[in-house]
Amino acid sequence: MIDCPETLSCEQFQSQLPELIGSGAVLAEHAHLRHCELCKALLADLEAIAEAARQLLPIVDPPEELWEQIESAIKGERESSDKT
Ligand SMILES: [Zn+2]
Repeated sequence: MIDCPETLSCEQFQSQLPELIGSGAVLAEHAHLRHCELCKALLADLEAIAEAARQLLPIVDPPEELWEQIESAIKGERESSDKT
């Protein structure tokens, strides 16, 4: 078996895809993607899904009480340092 990225079958390439993504490799420059429109389209789909998932994640705002606690903590700090 020839172990060259350009001769990978789509199946072989796709089985390596999670590993490649995890390794932070520049997939657009992968030899297989240079000549395979199918896998290029697949990767674009995956990236679109990943992007959508990121945008769907709820933006967590700190509760109002937290800011009050921080504020009073800062004030308390200031007052105690003023006295000394
Ligand atoms: Zn392919």
